[in-house]
Order: sequence, then structure tokens, then C-alpha cells
Amino acid sequence: MKITVLGVRGSIPVEGQEYLKFGGSTSCILVETEKEAIFIDAGTGIINAPDIGDKNITILLTHPHLDHLLGLPFFPYITQKNRHIDFYSKNFLGLNASEILNKLFGPPFWPCTLGDYPADLKCLELTLPLQIGDVSVEGIESNHPGGSTIFKLSQGGKSVVCATDYEYEEKSAARLAEFAKGTDLLFMDAQYTEEELATRKGYGHSAVSQGLKIMQESGAKNLRFVHHDPRHNDEFLTQLDKEVKSETVSLAGRGEVIKL
Ligand SMILES: [Zn+2]
Ligand SMILES: [Zn+2]
Repeated sequence: MKITVLGVRGSIPVEGQEYLKFGGSTSCILVETEKEAIFIDAGTGIINAPDIGDKNITILLTHPHLDHLLGLPFFPYITQKNRHIDFYSKNFLGLNASEILNKLFGPPFWPCTLGDYPADLKCLELTLPLQIGDVSVEGIESNHPGGSTIFKLSQGGKSVVCATDYEYEEKSAARLAEFAKGTDLLFMDAQYTEEELATRKGYGHSAVSQGLKIMQESGAKNLRFVHHDPRHNDEFLTQLDKEVKSETVSLAGRGEVIKL
């Protein structure tokens, strides 16, 4: 599997000189195999999707918060005729995948619906486990306001787990550690510092120390932190990265490619 980090910013995209290193685009991770291109979330990072040739395109939505969907109208492949895109989401507040997209992208908030774009976008209900070509997809519920899915994608004896938008608390941490047991690569939400967490309980995010705990308990081989707070600039994140960095641990930045 080839994993490309396309967006690591949480909550809202940011731009400017002070965000160039880690990137200002919101949540999107691309997992590729020979025939499949699977995007976890469609934040503004999806706009930077690389050339994937004629691979099958799937988008797996963790949850419909804006920072995970905002890039979809500018996804390069949605403007291509003869492209098929499978978009999977669970139901949220009684809305299915299609209703979620139509609510967000359509008048008066957007000039047209995504169904009006040239690609053939198919909205599907996410039921797990799911097989996408040679990739097995499993999931558990995250601890996040309104709910979110923590995905595990496995292929050829390797796996990647994506726990973005997850707030650490003991009960769900034990479940996450079990779910991520021995995984090759774990993406963990680390939006806040320990100090910030004290006043942001219930916001649905974690700190690096908590991700390190999950790594230790799960035996995950590699750890990358994602969902960086929009107020944390490169200087701040570089310092944080220095504090946690090892051969297997670092803060993820836009454009990072990891091969498993
Ligand atoms: Zn988010
Ligand atoms: Zn969220």
C-alpha cells in the first residue's frame, strides 16, 4: 500500500507563510494499491490529489463535519467524464450519504449539486466490514461529537489505521488499541496540547501524549499525528515534532508518502 497525506489541518483550512511546512489543507489521506485509490475523507486536501491513472476511486467518509467534506467540489476527478467515484458514508441524524452531500452542496450554499458534475458519483451506505478490490476495510466508532468512524485498511498483510477526530478517554482507548493492534501505520488526532485539552473537553480531539499511549498499547509500528489545530503554525508544530520525533513517530505534513 502507498499512503499519501493530502491534508492534515483540522477544523478549517489555513493559508500563509507560517503554514507552508505542514500545510493548511484539511483532512484527506489517500491509500493506493495497484488498482484502487481510496481517499479517507474529502477535506480540502483532496484538491491536491495526485495522478492516479485509471485506478478505481473510492471516498470513505469518517463523518460529515465541514473540514472533512469541503474539498469535494474541487476534487480533480469529479470534473472528469467517464470517471466513477464510490462515496461511502454512514447515516448521520437520519441522513444517508446522498442526502448529506445534497444538503451541503446545493442552492443556496452551492450553485449546483455534486450530481451535476461530469463524473458518475455514486453515494453508498457505509456498512463495515467492506471489501474494495484487494483492500479490506474495517471500522470502529470514534469518540467524537456526532460520531465518526476510525477506519482500518488492510492489504497484503499490511494495515493502516486512521483515528482522526478522536477524543481520548479510557474506555474507547482500550477499544482503539485493540483495533489497531500491530498495525503498520497509525494516524492519530493530536489537535490540542495538554494545556489546551483542559478547556476543550468534549470537543472530540486528543493530544500527542495520548496518541503515544495508544501506540504503546496497540504495538503500532509507526505513528503519525494529524488534524493539526488551525492556530498551530509551523514554528509551533516544528517544536512539537522535535519533542515527539523518533524513527517511527512524527507529525504528519502535507505531501508525505509512506509505503507499506
Ligand atoms: Zn475534523
Ligand atoms: Zn469532526
